[in-house]
Amino acid sequence: MMIALPNPDRSFTCTLFWPHDTLAGLDNPRRVRAYFAEHYPDAFELMPDLVPAYRDNPVGHLVTMRCAPWHVTTGAVSVGLVGDAAHAIVPFYGQGANCGFEDCVELDRCLDEARDDFPKALELFERRKADTDVIARLALENFVEMRDKVGSRAFLAGKRLEHALERMVPGYVSRYELVSFSTTPYSQVERRVRRQRRAVAAAGAALVALGLAARRGRALVRTPPAD
Ligand SMILES: Cc1cc2nc3c(=O)[nH]c(=O)nc-3n(C[C@H](O)[C@H](O)[C@H](O)COP(=O)(O)OP(=O)(O)OC[C@H]3O[C@@H](n4cnc5c(N)ncnc54)[C@H](O)[C@@H]3O)c2cc1C
Repeated sequence: MMIALPNPDRSFTCTLFWPHDTLAGLDNPRRVRAYFAEHYPDAFELMPDLVPAYRDNPVGHLVTMRCAPWHVTTGAVSVGLVGDAAHAIVPFYGQGANCGFEDCVELDRCLDEARDDFPKALELFERRKADTDVIARLALENFVEMRDKVGSRAFLAGKRLEHALERMVPGYVSRYELVSFSTTPYSQVERRVRRQRRAVAAAGAALVALGLAARRGRALVRTPPAD
């Protein structure tokens, strides 16, 4: 996947998200040009400095960090992990930094609950993993959404329906809104989204059933009585 973010001078900064094999395979200018011409033909036309830009820009690595526990206490020394050190995630939900800030809030809460007993607070803080595991999965899923789905009409229609539901149904909030613009813990977001979907499916089924019953009723009214 290639994304392009606009700069104030009207140029774009492009970032490529590729498997390592693809990067390793493009080891000369001819291969670079051929690959871009095949996979990104519209962008290729707009990139006169493709080969030097490709050659000279840095390559990073995206990882999902999964580890447990996040704390250790030996004698008088306690060490705990927060933020990316505990749960780095891929950047496709734009939540990495936010997740770290939420860690601070949760750790503060744990310190209150543990009456400032630091080792105890770090122990309590392990409960945060339920939330960070969820956002790690959502971030990976969002990569697939960005890469494969945003050009699909069915997907876009689904998004329009979701926005319409948000406007029409009080209390209905999409997963994206809940993750990005609320402080609802990530694991609760998942539960709430499931509840909402069940409710919408049940309401939809009830509407269809009502519609069918109404049609049947009209058909009966129109049928002339038998002599
Ligand atoms: C491509 C990309 C795009 C991203 N986009 C977003 C986004 O849109 N929104 C978002 O919220 N997040 C985004 N993130 C994630 C975000 O940048 C991280 O989640 C966030 O910076 C993590 O903060 P942190 O403090 O936990 O770790 P870091 O920011 O990594 O801070 C760790 C610090 O510790 C220092 N350090 C390391 N080792 C030592 C040592 N031995 N001694 C002393 N200091 C040390 C490092 O130099 C660093 O300053 C993105 C990440 C990437 C890679």
